[in-house]
Amino acid sequence: MSKFWSKVVHGLTPYVPGEQPKLANLVKLNTNENPYGPSPKVLEALHGAISDNLRLYPDPNSDRLKAAIAASHGLQPDQIFVGNGSDEVLAHVFQALLKHDLPLLFPDITYSFYPVYCGLYDIDYETVGLGENFEIRVDGYLKPNGGIIFPNPNAPTGIPLALSEIERLLQANNDSVVVVDEAYVDFGTESAVSLIDRFPNLLVTHTLSKARSLAGLRVGYALGNRDLIEALIRVKDSFNSYPIDSLASAGAIAAIEDREYFEATCKQVIDSRERLVASMQQLGFEVLPSGANFIFARYPGQDGAELTARLRERNIIIRHFKKPSRISPYLRITIGTEQQNRQLIEALQAILSE
Ligand code: PMP
Repeated sequence: MSKFWSKVVHGLTPYVPGEQPKLANLVKLNTNENPYGPSPKVLEALHGAISDNLRLYPDPNSDRLKAAIAASHGLQPDQIFVGNGSDEVLAHVFQALLKHDLPLLFPDITYSFYPVYCGLYDIDYETVGLGENFEIRVDGYLKPNGGIIFPNPNAPTGIPLALSEIERLLQANNDSVVVVDEAYVDFGTESAVSLIDRFPNLLVTHTLSKARSLAGLRVGYALGNRDLIEALIRVKDSFNSYPIDSLASAGAIAAIEDREYFEATCKQVIDSRERLVASMQQLGFEVLPSGANFIFARYPGQDGAELTARLRERNIIIRHFKKPSRISPYLRITIGTEQQNRQLIEALQAILSE
């Protein structure tokens, strides 16, 4: 606490991301990164962008990147907003579109950055309980609200919500913005992008951190009606004119354009997930249905924190959410390479038989 701080800072409870340890030889399954590197074409584009031109500011409007994203989704460039990771895009979304008189609604178990943005921008919110099987219940969102946001698939559960249910939610909420955070959508969940032209209140956010293997490059984007995009551009241009640097832009364009590599790596991750789920179930774990590049699982009678600590002793790191709640027995495990997943299964087998 300092007398020099702005008032709002005293009340902030910042988001704490999963750790990025400096140790070598870790099996790192804690932050939902892609186990495969980015496309070789991305690396080539990045090398190509390293030149004297770095003395120049990048394009403040990221026109080429927006054009590439728009083409890949069958939308127009003015339906795209880009930012420094989808976290930054979300920050602008909260400030530009989700601060109203009525409370913002989001699930009680979800991406824990949402309440942090509410704290930063002084946004009133209410959480809506997930169902008995941790599913998002659209019926819980059929009440007056100042906006709705949820990830699809949800995090940290990994459970997808059907497109028909999203449509029902949109139809019942014509007067508020509905944000679908599709950070993990490419791993087997149906995207709501196809609904954008029918619902002017729908905003979808994507990231290059997961399915495009570019968490280190920090690029994310939002897709939606021009009116929603304009609000985001106004906030961005009152905050940082150049969120996408020249290197990030070059790498992101190459990643978006290399569809073949993207599809192949997503398929690999999905296939590995199915094998990992089967092995975990064989060991006696209960695994929630996942449409993401991670799974959420518990071993009946075992403490989640304890299992996480025992895995760590064996150099395997996964994510456990400590807050006492009904998710505290669960482990969130990122899908790794086949070899990493095998190491995980062997370690769990050993721990459980001790
Ligand atoms: N949404 C969800 C649900 C996430 O889990 C994450 C990753 N922590 C993000 C958004 C943000 O990802 P990034 O800023 O890397 O695009």
